[in-house]
Amino acid sequence: MSQEESFDVVIVGAGVLGVATAYYIQKNSPEKTVLIVDRYLAAGQANTAMSAAAVRNMFASSTNQLLTDTSIKYFEHVQNEIGYDLLFEKCGYLWLLSDIQFNNDSVKTWMERMERSGISYHVYNKQELKEMIPGLNVDFEGDEEAELMNLQEVSWGLFGADCGVLDPTRLVEYYLEEFKKICHEKPRFGVDVQELLLEADPKLDLPGEPYVWQKKKVTGVKANKGILKAETVVLATGAWANELLDPIGIDSQTKAKKRQLFVVHAEHKEDLKSVLFSNGFNKYGCIPFTILPSAGVYFRPQLQELGFWIGCGDKEGRAYKYVQSDEDLVPEGIYYENSIYPVLSKYFPAFEDTRPTNSWAGGYCYSPDRIPFVYKKCGVLVVNGASGSGIMKADALARIADALLRGEEVTELFGGKHISSTALGQTDRDIEVESVVI
Ligand SMILES: Cc1cc2nc3c(=O)[nH]c(=O)nc-3n(C[C@H](O)[C@H](O)[C@H](O)COP(=O)(O)OP(=O)(O)OC[C@H]3O[C@@H](n4cnc5c(N)ncnc54)[C@H](O)[C@@H]3O)c2cc1C
Repeated sequence: MSQEESFDVVIVGAGVLGVATAYYIQKNSPEKTVLIVDRYLAAGQANTAMSAAAVRNMFASSTNQLLTDTSIKYFEHVQNEIGYDLLFEKCGYLWLLSDIQFNNDSVKTWMERMERSGISYHVYNKQELKEMIPGLNVDFEGDEEAELMNLQEVSWGLFGADCGVLDPTRLVEYYLEEFKKICHEKPRFGVDVQELLLEADPKLDLPGEPYVWQKKKVTGVKANKGILKAETVVLATGAWANELLDPIGIDSQTKAKKRQLFVVHAEHKEDLKSVLFSNGFNKYGCIPFTILPSAGVYFRPQLQELGFWIGCGDKEGRAYKYVQSDEDLVPEGIYYENSIYPVLSKYFPAFEDTRPTNSWAGGYCYSPDRIPFVYKKCGVLVVNGASGSGIMKADALARIADALLRGEEVTELFGGKHISSTALGQTDRDIEVESVVI
């Protein structure tokens, strides 16, 4: 534990945000020594690997629209121009909405803002949806159970053709491989950071520094493998940000919440296969990533597995945690059984009698306004609070973090779009609050 090493930048966390940030920092500052560390034994093993890895530019906040639209276009560029297969499939996103939801002011604002930003979408009516999605139940007339469950009937579909799904592991590998081609320091795994080292700036070598009247700076980290000193420490620890920021008095303003995914196969169920292969939405001839009108239930089509990944954006009733704990990584079969399944099988009776063959759990790292944070405080650069959409915003957030580190006031995102480098900060935050959170 006596070992001490020095670097220009130490990045804590090798999830998608950590590795993408490492890549842009090293690319734009080739002379700097950039070290990535993670307590896991490989990159992208925590919440990045647990994600549904769906990507959408259909947000209500123009901030999120910009972050996602430019990131998604970069992912397309990586896959189509650079030739690195991210398994990115533009299967689309489909929100199934009731009449009340569709005519709600917030959905109107959402659509208006998408039009203003040039985000394309299409509205399907009930008849069209019935024709395109075999087995979609759009009639709850006289269904007492549906009434008891507060389920709203499907009347409309809001569809985004530029959205889709990808493989988060491939995305992490892409950034990491690119980083490794240009880096001076190989990423290190099994490195558990226990503490951020906060020191007086400048140091006066007085006992008990730093005092309240002194400026303070994080000068490195204390880890299980020794002290790693750095000019800048980047914190990309997602749902664990508070573990390291709280002890030095920095409020991350983020909270974690458990999220789970359940896999259901359609292989031996013809009616469920027909749902999976709902035609007319995309070139794969499959149902898009679909969000039901009620209870926050959604699914991702999974063509390789001939099935679905099913999740639920549970709100009240699911605890916010300050830090993601081990129990948050255990999926609950009973949750699928009692909460998700009854809703799913009402809208899609083809799911009746199906049971998950696999499941896993991770955590969202929520910010209060559902817009990510990228800011520098006391020498620590924090990238987090992606609020369940960190995969789809990864490229933009990493470019902003790099621009902040280099002192650039404005960040150029992929495709030549721009954002103020401090727009996602804690103090001079310049954002539109997000309302379309799944
Ligand atoms: C079920 C589920 C579904 C999701 N679906 C989607 C989706 O469809 N689309 C989308 O865009 N996003 C989705 N997300 C969110 C997405 O996964 C996250 O926003 C994204 O992975 C955040 O990346 P990250 O790098 O911040 O976090 P992580 O991948 O969690 O990485 C943080 C890393 O920091 C490391 N770490 C933490 N503390 C320390 C320490 N003290 N020392 C060393 N290492 C440390 C961890 O080991 C970890 O590897 C989903 C998440 C879940 C759980």
